[in-house]
Order: sequence, then C-alpha cells, then structure tokens
Amino acid sequence: MFRLTNINGRSAFQFDDGFVDVAKVAGDESLADPMNAIARFGELSALYAKAGASPKSSGTPGVCVPKPAKVFGIGLNYKSHAAESNMELPPAPLTFTKFPSCLAGPTADVELSGDMVDWEVEIVVVIGKGGRHIAESAAWSHVAGLTLGQDISDRKVQLGGKPPQFSLGKSFDTYGPIGPAIVSVDAFPNRDDIALWCDVSGERMQEARTSNLIFTIPYLVSYLSSICTLESGDVIFTGTPDGVGMARGRLLKAGDVIDSGADVIGALRNVCVAGK
Ligand code: ZN
Repeated sequence: MFRLTNINGRSAFQFDDGFVDVAKVAGDESLADPMNAIARFGELSALYAKAGASPKSSGTPGVCVPKPAKVFGIGLNYKSHAAESNMELPPAPLTFTKFPSCLAGPTADVELSGDMVDWEVEIVVVIGKGGRHIAESAAWSHVAGLTLGQDISDRKVQLGGKPPQFSLGKSFDTYGPIGPAIVSVDAFPNRDDIALWCDVSGERMQEARTSNLIFTIPYLVSYLSSICTLESGDVIFTGTPDGVGMARGRLLKAGDVIDSGADVIGALRNVCVAGK
C-alpha cells in the first residue's frame, strides 16, 4: 500500500509522523513529478515500504493530482441526494467537468463566488493506468488510488438557467479541494464500502458510504472509458450523498469551516473566505 501526496510540487509519501520525498527514496529524480509518480503507481508500494525507515520531514500537502488531463464530476449518484434535489435518477452517469484549475489542496481556502455556494463531499478516483473500453471487471486495476474531495458548487451559476449547466458553476478557482493523499486501493478493508462525511462549522451535514452509490466506481471507469480514452492522472469525483446546503436552506458564508473526512483516506479542512 501507499499514500502519495505533493509537498512543494514534489511527490511525497505521507506517514503519520511526516513525509518522505519519493524521488530521493527511489534514487530516481523522474519520480519527483507527482503526475509521473501516479503513472508509475505499480512501483510505489515497494518504495513506500522502504520509505517507512527514512527520516520524516514536515510539510503542507498541496494538490495530490496537480495537472490532470481530465476531471470528471458525477451528479446525482446517491439516491438520497437525487431525492433531496427533486431530480429523477439518471439512466446513465450524469457527467460534467470540473476544469483542472479548480483543484486545491486539502487545507486551501475556498474563495466564495457569491451567496449561493454549497458543499459536496465525495470520494475521488485517480486513474493510474489509462485505456479505452475498460471492462468493469478490470476497472480497479486501472485505479492508482482514491482520495477525498469537495465538489464546491455555485448553485446560482449551476442552476440559474433552464436547462441548468454544471461545469462552470463547479469550476471556480479553489472549488475542488482534494487530498490529503492518494491512497492505494489495497489499503481499504472494503474498497466498495467506504464511509465519508462532511461537517460545516462543527455541524454534521453529510454522512454516507460508497456502497450506496448508484453507479459504482468500476462502472464509472468502464462507462467513461467507453466514451473518452482515460489517461493516467485523470480524476473522477464520484458524486455526493444527501445533506447539501441547498436542500437545507443553509449555504456557505465567509468564516465557515468545511471539515471533510473518509475512512482510511483522512481529512480535508477548508476555510471559506470572501471572493473578490
Ligand atoms: Zn458533486
């Protein structure tokens, strides 16, 4: 198993007591680029085991997937969230993009774009090995690991027109905090049943398990690859469960603290600040 993140733009392994530079432990500078390390995920478990004995350094993780070619978002992928949104269940994964420039680190501030900005905690898939027409049965072998994300959404931009449009409302800079690390699939006791939750300023807002996804992670990888060639480093936000702010009539304001968590993966803490 491994936990891969990004410290000052370089690939780093995350441990409880600090970080180890991946390229240094490997003696291979080409692994310093986090995107290269993701593409070579098959080598990382052995290096992680070796790094366990190395001295650890402190640091603040940046974006664990800094330059993905594609970032997919999946809408309405939990029945509970479709119901609270008064929307019918989609017959196929409802897919939009979050443009990669929206990605942010696990402790980055969220710069609010208005007064209708919402939280959405999600498990995020990081593709390790690309491909086209990937069979559902082979899909997990294409996944480098999983991380946690917030699909922050400006509901006014997203839903202000008919028909709605998702991609821009979810692509403001800072609207995609992810992290704190990409965790290899073998680190999960059950990769198809991962708990995730979200607190806003101390109040529990969302709590679910990925066993309740309508379209499973293997299905999403297979489906998306039937349309687009998937590449190493591509990112899939798998959808959010119920409990978003829009359904509660309580949206984000400056000073709110968004605490997101998931089993095995860890936590994000993002403070909301007023945008320009
Ligand atoms: Zn979402």
